[in-house]
Amino acid sequence: MAQNWLKPDWEPGLSTPNLPFEHLLSMGIKAILLDVDGTLLPSNELVLHSSVIDWICKAKNYFSIHLLSNNPSKRRIKSISSQIDVSYTYKAAKPTRGALIKALRTLNKDPKEIAIIGDRLFTDVIAGNRLGIYTVLVKPIGPNGMTSLTNKTQYIEQRIANIIGVLRK
Ligand SMILES: [Mg+2]
Repeated sequence: MAQNWLKPDWEPGLSTPNLPFEHLLSMGIKAILLDVDGTLLPSNELVLHSSVIDWICKAKNYFSIHLLSNNPSKRRIKSISSQIDVSYTYKAAKPTRGALIKALRTLNKDPKEIAIIGDRLFTDVIAGNRLGIYTVLVKPIGPNGMTSLTNKTQYIEQRIANIIGVLRK
């Protein structure tokens, strides 16, 4: 069987503002593609939590950062990117590769030096694995910057991924 595209390289069980940089640095990561909805803020919120802003400010000392969102609203993604002063792609259509390849070119790094951080197996993790970059699955974020207790999408996707894994055997 080919590589399991549903398996993240790193699944620390944390939401984004709690992710330690040391692990990414030890893997040689120099640039990060960051998902937005569910990863930086809940999809019904407009303003980033202070813990997320702090995390990104610190992350910028070590990594180039680019937002890569499937959200079709340019207004929303632009407004969020302006809160942290980073570049962005909206309507990225992950897990298809077009927008991702473009974003990789913008970052101008070796694929081995790039990580994608997201909350979804079927978009972020598959997209990253298809391009051979380092994939990080974070817990969906809640309005307080902590792990969301109501967002069940990841849980459902992991259940489906497990079923697919069993069927393959
Ligand atoms: Mg997401």
